[in-house]
Parts: sequence; structure tokens; C-alpha cells
Amino acid sequence: MIMKFAIRFFILNLLFFKTIFSQNYLQEREFLIGQFEFSKHPDFINIKQIGIPVKRNDLFLQKEVAEQLLKLYQQLKKDLPNAEFWVTSATRNYWHQKQIWENKWNQYQKQYKNDPQQIATKILEYSSMPATSRHHWGTDFDINILDNSYYERGNGKMIYEWLKKNAKKYGFCMPYNENRNTGYRLEKWHWSYYKLAKIYQQKWNESFQNNLFDSKIDFIGKEFFKTYAFIYVNAINTECLE
Ligand SMILES: [Zn+2]
Repeated sequence: MIMKFAIRFFILNLLFFKTIFSQNYLQEREFLIGQFEFSKHPDFINIKQIGIPVKRNDLFLQKEVAEQLLKLYQQLKKDLPNAEFWVTSATRNYWHQKQIWENKWNQYQKQYKNDPQQIATKILEYSSMPATSRHHWGTDFDINILDNSYYERGNGKMIYEWLKKNAKKYGFCMPYNENRNTGYRLEKWHWSYYKLAKIYQQKWNESFQNNLFDSKIDFIGKEFFKTYAFIYVNAINTECLE
């Protein structure tokens, strides 16, 4: 059984990595930490162009992810014709994440009296360090409103309950669910195409453990990369690893 799984995993691995690096466009390491221009990558697509409702016009996902998300959306509209569903943010590269991280760092500096440890863990409640975000991979996106209470009533509740029941059929899971004792807080708006993401997570871990990222990262607070990056990347819903 374990052997069968190992062989299947190995074959999947080969297939996925053949696809993403098919045109020698970039190295595995750069891909895993989001150091590439996804809008120019041949495996990425602007999701508005295929009919997925969006908040902004410049949202990209990997083609396979976008196709599955479109199918999910079409079924959601069939089941719930009055529901409103849109994608708020999708792929983000390393440099964008660095901006988000450093802006928050500056914002929290006063409040936490320049205690870098406290600043880092405060940001990590909801935001990733550059090079550690699942949004780098083109597999993850945020929907509608980035506020858990939105999903407790009305439209938010309606789509959230539908997704909890149906998203898995299309290959999606919610990585930052309840029932975890570490990592980011609950994010009912963040969804992931885990069929691809679980492979990248595995590859990310291998590269991290071999210190392959060290020379590639540079941001305020990077001294916490060693301590927190691995924990936060891996503290996810176990359903996303099936
Ligand atoms: Zn997100």
C-alpha cells in the first residue's frame, strides 16, 4: 500500500514538474518562492478572460486551477442562482509579498515597541513572509471578503456552506481551517487547489531543508525565516494533503 502510494506520488511529481518547467522558463527553486513573473508564464492564465468573476482585472492562476475553478463556479451558480461569488486575489509573487510584509512591519513597529519577534508573529496571524506564501504557486486564491464574520450570514454563509460541501470534488480545500493549533489564523476566504499545491509544498520543504532559499531571500525580519517559515507553510488543514 505504502509502496503503491510512493510510486503514484513519484509519477505525479514527474508529470507536474514536467508541466510547470516545460519551457525551461524558470528553475524549480525560483518557482517555489514566487520569484518569477507569473503573467508571462505559459502555464498561467488571466482568470477573468475565461469567465470567472473577479474583483480586479489582473488576477492569474495556473491554467489547470482556473479550469477547475470555472467548473466549480458554474455548478455553484446552478445550485445557488442568487449567490454572488468572485475572486478577490490570486497569484502573488515574492516582490509583492515582500511589500505587504514590510508595510505591515512598519505599521506594527510602534505598537510593539520595536520588538521584532512580536512584530513578526503579529504579521504572521494572517500574512506570509515573502517566499512562504501559497499564493506564489498559482494554486491558491481568496474569495469575496477577507473577514471571517462575512461567512456567518447571508451570501457569505450560503457560498461558504456550499464550498465546504462541494469544493473537494473539483480539487479544492481550505488550508487555514479551524482545528489547527499553530500557523495562520482561520481564513474562510482562502482556497487552494491541493492536487498541485501538495506537490509544491513537498518540494518547498525539501528545498527549505537543504537551505536552497537562503541566498534568495532579503526582507525586513528575514532572521525569523529559519524559525517560522517551515512551521507556517506546514500548519495546514490535513485534507489539503490527501
Ligand atoms: Zn489568501
